[in-house]
This record gives sequence, structure tokens and C-alpha cells, in this order.
Amino acid sequence: MANGKIGVTTENIFPVIKKFLYSDNEIFLRELVSNAVDASRKLQTLASFGDFKGDMGELKVSVSVDKENGTITVSDHGIGMDDSDIEKYINQIAFSGAEEFLEKYKDTANSIIGHFGLGFYSAFMVADKVVIRSLSYKDGAKAVEWSCDGSPEYEMHHIEKAERGTEIILHIDSDSKEYLEKDRIIALLKKYCRFLPIPVVCGKKQEWKDGSYIDTDEDNVVNATEPLWTRRPAELNDDDYLRFYRELMPGREDPLFWIHLNVDYPFTLTGILYFPKVNSNIDLQRNRIQLYCNQVYVTDQVEGVVPEFMTIMQGVIDSPDIPLNVSRSYLQADRQVKKISSYISKKVAEKLERLFNNDRPEFEKKWDDIRIFIEYGMLTDEKFFESARKFFLLKNTAGKYFSLEEYRSLTEPTQTDKDSTVIYLYTTDSTAQFAYIRRAEEKGYDVLVMDGELDGHLMSLIESKEEKIRFVRVDSDIPEHLIHKSDETASTLSAEESDILTGIFSASLPKENGTNYIVALESVNEKGAPATLTQDEFMRRMKRMAEQQPGMSFGSQLPDSFQLVVNTDSAAIRQILKSADEAIGNEIRPILSEISSANDELAKAKAPDASDELKASASGIESQIADLRERQSRIISRYADSQPSIRQIVDLALLQAGKLNGQALSEFIDRSYSML
Ligand code: ADP
Repeated sequence: MANGKIGVTTENIFPVIKKFLYSDNEIFLRELVSNAVDASRKLQTLASFGDFKGDMGELKVSVSVDKENGTITVSDHGIGMDDSDIEKYINQIAFSGAEEFLEKYKDTANSIIGHFGLGFYSAFMVADKVVIRSLSYKDGAKAVEWSCDGSPEYEMHHIEKAERGTEIILHIDSDSKEYLEKDRIIALLKKYCRFLPIPVVCGKKQEWKDGSYIDTDEDNVVNATEPLWTRRPAELNDDDYLRFYRELMPGREDPLFWIHLNVDYPFTLTGILYFPKVNSNIDLQRNRIQLYCNQVYVTDQVEGVVPEFMTIMQGVIDSPDIPLNVSRSYLQADRQVKKISSYISKKVAEKLERLFNNDRPEFEKKWDDIRIFIEYGMLTDEKFFESARKFFLLKNTAGKYFSLEEYRSLTEPTQTDKDSTVIYLYTTDSTAQFAYIRRAEEKGYDVLVMDGELDGHLMSLIESKEEKIRFVRVDSDIPEHLIHKSDETASTLSAEESDILTGIFSASLPKENGTNYIVALESVNEKGAPATLTQDEFMRRMKRMAEQQPGMSFGSQLPDSFQLVVNTDSAAIRQILKSADEAIGNEIRPILSEISSANDELAKAKAPDASDELKASASGIESQIADLRERQSRIISRYADSQPSIRQIVDLALLQAGKLNGQALSEFIDRSYSML
């Protein structure tokens, strides 16, 4: 009938298609089968409007593989095409600058295919000859055959064809023989066509008979034509959702909950997202959400479409409004896609809030499993933080859960400090910090367990968002000072006593590289422990933040700083002070008074109106003071070394903080035995 040239502006479009699209060439099947499905649905539509009055027959799409003849055939009973349709839809691939475009997008085969309606031509990625045989539904239509061997020339003539619909016959080229394996084709159909709305058949169902598989009479339908997400949530029950999940994610534990997405405006989107039970980090695999466009599988790369923190969810999203055939960076910048992403985020938050409000016990049961996900969301998505505020749970050491609001009401009366800040005490390790927790609880405080990977960041975020809340780790101060309720009472010790006590304990603290220990004297109360090791909350956070800054190696070089808080009210400490005074008081006192008068002289020498002679004496006095201090500290050290009970108190404080180990621990044990 007619021969002609396919209307592309570039002569060599087929070699280009082949070359650039090679890596993704399996999508030819998706393109052809979805065209066949579209043609079938168009016929259904025409029939429903009364524009097609004939017998629709059984609408199904068949894919068959003829290995012997090297062909794959995709056939349908849809609307078909007559010669003018073929001329219009197949011959005129009208676009300009094809080469330029292909060059630009060579890495994303998908982008070219869909962008230019090249779907049908993707057949040339795997075939060196393609034949279309078609009979249109139109009254009096003549069947037509079109063929093309990959050059821009095609050949078209009328044929006899009894059945309405289209057959696309691919003569598979020598590089693509893999597609002549039926199993491979079935696998591809399962991947791309699993949920298409028209039955897709590939061969017959088989049964085991007399030692081998043989075909039955029944069609082997590869797809489920009415996948769950296309149905109305009201019609479905939990079992339906669970069954669908098991089909989608075989071999996995049942999900914790799911969300059925269903929206028509301002974009169309349906889908079901499941929240998986996450048992380990390996489970945190992404790419478990499949993206569909009108039930045609497109990709499992959903970055941009779903908020990042939700990519650990599993399930399906179906939307004709997602521009599927564009590069990922474009996708992420697309406004429509952003709307979709925030819609999904909102839906997930609503679902969680509903669970929280309607079934609190169930929500609490799931909390530990979903917490990391929610925290990640709160940290990365401002809007989600706002919604999660209502259902975010804190857990205390007794295993009780509180919302942020509930926890504030619980702690406000007992844990508000003198600046009206409510102090949330927490532990990162309830075993290691047990003694500190117990002492805080003895003071009537509540302690939270914040041992999650993201808790550190989350606490900072909550502090910045919630009014007047501060998180303080239980071991960051002695229990009496964890929450500063009034201005501290001054120490009752004299300067001389303070000097001796500080000296004694400083001399007994470990000297380690990378760790600083300092002594602080506090008048706590008679019953408090003689000494407690604490690590300042602020310093610890600074160090941790520095460690987590990529490229900031100084974080790990920052020393750990601990304070040994010595309780000057405790009987043991008072006893130590008394004995020290008796033993070395007479030696120390003259030195202290010498230091004191040297200091007076130094002050005079440094006065602005001092004579030149006096000024010149300053450095001499300074070194004299240094010598005196040196002498004093030698005496104190010698004394401290001779007193096992001092070392014992220090070691007990270290032990309680989990800081006593190795040689020091072994010495402590020996000393303890010898003291028995
Ligand atoms: P797209 O599907 O993106 O429009 P294609 O190149 O895949 O681009 O197809 C071009 C057109 O050819 C389709 O829009 C349709 O009108 C027609 N067509 C393709 N396959 C069939 C088919 N099996 N039955 C009827 N028409 C078809």
C-alpha cells in the first residue's frame, strides 16, 4: 500500500535509541504492554459512552515468546489502528533536536522514552524488525500491517485480520536473545505489569503431571487487575491489607500499621504505605516503595516524591501527576511533587495522631519500633515536627510513656529550677548510670531514658522548640545540683581548709591523657555521698557535637572533663579534713601565711603608683610564691598518698561513674581487701 519515511527529523534515531537506551532496554515490554492495556481501556471507555456498540469480547493482553522464530508478540483486543492512525501515531514522531536531547539525557532512558512518546519505538532497543498488525474498532476499517527494520523507512499494506485489536511482533536482535526466554519475560511482566488493570497473559498455567510440568487450559495471568490501593478504604479490612503486604513483601514480618492514601485534588494520588517492623539496621533498606503511574510500574526510586525520612516505609504510590520521565533533580524541584511529598507527610502524621488518640496502649506498644523513624522525621521535616509534637512519647526509667505535654505537667511541680526552666533529667544508659538515677529518684525526680541513636539531636531540637525546657543527664552534677532551685549556699570552710581539701583530692585523681579532672567542694548535705564524679552537660554536648561534625577532627581531641564533687558536709570528708589538719596543719599553716604575706607584697609591687624599685621586685615575689605553693602541694600529696581512705573515696566515685578500670581497678580491689 504505502512505503515511506518515519517523520523524525533525525535520520539515525534508531541507532541512537539503541545505543543510549541499552542499559534500560527491558522497559520495551512495559511500554508495549501498557500501550496494549491503554488500547483496551479506551475501548471500554468508548463502550461506556455508547460510542462502541459491538461485542467487546474478552479484553486481555497476551504476550508470547516464540524462541524458534526469534519473536515476541504482544497482542490485544483494544481499539486497534487503521492506516491513518498508524500514520498519525506511529509514523510521525515529531520532535526536533533529538540528538541534542538524547545527548543531554543519555543516562536516563526513561526520560527520553516518555518525554517524546517514544514508547512504541523502544521496541527497537531489542528488535531489528518490528511488525504491527492491527484492525481498528471503527466500522468498515481495513486491517493493516506495518513493518520497519530499524531504518527510518517503513512499509505498510492492507492485510486480512479477523479479530479487532493490535499485534506487535518483535524480531529480537542477536544482542537481545535473553528476552526469548519465557521465564525472563514472565519475570519482567511481574515487575512492570503486576498491577495493570487488564489481564496480561503469558502462556498457560502449568501443572505437575507424570514427572514434568505440562500446560493446562487455563491462561497464566501475571497481574492482579484490581490492586488493593485502587479500592475504597471503607471496603477493606485489616486482613486485606495484610494479605496485600505479604504479597508485596514476601517473607517479611507483618507491618506495624499502614496508611491508605487517596486524594483527587489538587493532584491525583492513591497508594498504601506500610510501616515495617524494623529489627535491625539491615532492615532500614530504602527503595521499598514502588511508584506506579496508572498501575504501570515505573520505579522504586522515590526520592523527592516521599519525604526522605519516610523512604523506610514500604508499599505503593500511584499517581499520574508525578512527572515520571524526568531526571531526579528535576523531580525534586517540581512544585507538584513537593506538594505530594508534604501531603504524604501530613497523612502519615495524621495516622499516627489517630492511633495515639484512639488506641494509646497499642500506640505505646509500637512506640519503640517506630520511634527512630518519628525522630528522624522530626529532625528533618519542620512540619512533621509540628504534628509529631502531639504524639511524640518520652519514656521514663519505669517504662512509662508520656507525651511532651503530659511530661511537662508531671515534672513542672518538682523539677522547675530557679529560672523557671523545667529540667528533664535523662539517662543514656540505665545500667551504667544506675547509681546516679537512683539518687535522682531518691530526690523525687523522674528520669527519662534517652538511649536512641538520634536522641541527642532530638533533645536539642525539643529544647529549642518547647518553652523553657532543658535536658540534663543524671550524671552531669550531684543530685542536689541537677536542678538549681535556689542560689547555692557558700561553702562553710575556711580558705585554709579549702586549700588542703582540694589539694588532697587533686593529688589522688587519675592523671590520664585526654581527660581532665578537677575538684569542686560543695556543701551538699550530711547524708550525701562523700564524693561524686560528674560530667558537665554543656561540655559533653560540645564535645559530642564537635565529634559529629564531619571534617572536624578536633572533636576527638577535645578532652573529656570530669568534676569530682567533694561533699564538705559529709562525715567522712569532715573526718579527713580533721586528720589532715592534725597531721600537716602545723607544716602547712606557716607556708600559707607566708604565701598570704607574699601576695600582699606582690599586690603592692603591682600597684600603679609603686616605685620602680618595688615594681622590679614583682617577678622575684612571684617565683617565691610558686616555690611556696610547690612546697605546700608536696606536703599535701605526700600526706594524701599515705592515706588509703582518700584514694578509696576517689576510686569509689570513679567506680560509680564506670571510670575505674585496668590497673586502677585492681589496685582498688587490693586496697579494699587490705582495709577489711
Ligand atoms: P504513547 O503511548 O506515549 O502515546 P507510543 O509511541 O507508545 O507513545 O504510542 C503512540 C501511539 O500509538 C499511542 O498513543 C496510541 O495511539 C498508538 N498505539 C500504540 N500501541 C497501540 C496499540 N496496541 N493499540 C492501539 N493504539 C496503539
